[in-house]
Amino acid sequence: MSYTPATEALILALQTLPGVGVRSAARMALQLLERDTNSAQKLSSALQNALEKVHKCPRCRSLTESELCNICNNPDRDIETLCVVANDSDKAGIEMSGHFFGRYFVLHGVLSPIDGIGPEQLGIGDLKTLITTQNISEVILALDEQMESEATAHYIGEQLRSLDVTRSRIRFNQMKSGSLDKADSHIIANALADKKEIGFEHD
Ligand SMILES: [Zn+2]
Repeated sequence: MSYTPATEALILALQTLPGVGVRSAARMALQLLERDTNSAQKLSSALQNALEKVHKCPRCRSLTESELCNICNNPDRDIETLCVVANDSDKAGIEMSGHFFGRYFVLHGVLSPIDGIGPEQLGIGDLKTLITTQNISEVILALDEQMESEATAHYIGEQLRSLDVTRSRIRFNQMKSGSLDKADSHIIANALADKKEIGFEHD
């Protein structure tokens, strides 16, 4: 089956979303164009609006609509402790646990050479600058146990070895984005309680 060029372009664009293959992308495109143009308009303007307003916090790379995000802006947060997370969803989970009072650094991914995600894409240079310029005394690597995340944690741990900072690691299973609940926050609270200093881990 062939579609119009604009329909093809929409299908291709939808396929860039995680977990969306060509069949689902085609189904979504046809749903929006054939049956639900109201929703299509809403989706289009919401996306445009978000693209205009949302940007990465220049300090911690969290998504924000203000100049600095609300955590970087909060004078009550412990400025000496920095928690490194893969994405804003994990950050939200840690916040929900109510057991972390420092600030964050968001990688927006983990190392994945096959997808072209290297240290530069994860902002590792910015992370090192942040640590050395902001008097940070402890960096907690809060990444899950997937192979790429472990490799990322190891890489960052090595990169920070020469800096005057305590390096710690917590692990928790990746949460389903947008479905954080009490159980997730309990898991994270336990993970934080089970924090291990890098170099002193049992495994
Ligand atoms: Zn921030």
